[in-house]
Amino acid sequence: MRCILFGPPGVGKGTQAKLFSAKLGIAHISTGDMLREAVSRGTPLGMKARTVMDAGQLVSDDIMIGIIEDVLRSEACRPGFILDGFPRTVPQAAALTGLLERLHQYLDVVVNMEIDEAEVIGRLSNRVSCSGCGKIFSVREVGFPDNRTCPSCGGGLIQREDDKPETVLRRLRVYAESTAPVKEYYRAKGLLKTVNAAGSVAEVNARIMKLFPSV
Ligand code: AMP
Repeated sequence: MRCILFGPPGVGKGTQAKLFSAKLGIAHISTGDMLREAVSRGTPLGMKARTVMDAGQLVSDDIMIGIIEDVLRSEACRPGFILDGFPRTVPQAAALTGLLERLHQYLDVVVNMEIDEAEVIGRLSNRVSCSGCGKIFSVREVGFPDNRTCPSCGGGLIQREDDKPETVLRRLRVYAESTAPVKEYYRAKGLLKTVNAAGSVAEVNARIMKLFPSV
């Protein structure tokens, strides 16, 4: 299984990708998580990416394509992968097509997760994640900021810098301008399948599961 979970920030790509990666035993490739790790380790990539990410803009296509090429060539991706947060521009999508052709691999499906913009804004401004296990919660669910401890592993709960209201609006603008056109790229290839991403995690999971061929 090789697939892309596609959709605006806050639609639930990361949450669903984690579930499917565990269920199907395939790699979950989140470019956002990889960049955040580089930022927290203070690597040259992290230092370059930090300001761009905090401003809600996109890291350059050259950098992102280089990162994805290294990951997809790795042994971990051989059984399959779920891409979360890549591709985010049409040039990234075209580079991915070329790379997969060179690797003699093909995408099974691009899952287009759709939701109202108002719902996305609400989800992003209400989400916190665990710095230990990476699980995502809503502030109401865990009582943040009074409680800053992960109910699952006891790690520290943090709110992402780019989930602040003004940055959220910029990210949604960047999505509409640069990322949404990727949908047409995959629609033209006959790979795009759309799901309604409103509702509970379990409901959305069941809808996506139906789209996966041979699972
Ligand atoms: P995410 O966790 O997927 O919302 O990504 C967080 C941030 O990382 C984005 O707002 C971008 O600044 C950067 N980023 C992640 N993936 C990409 C990508 N494929 N292309 C460009 N920037 C990216």
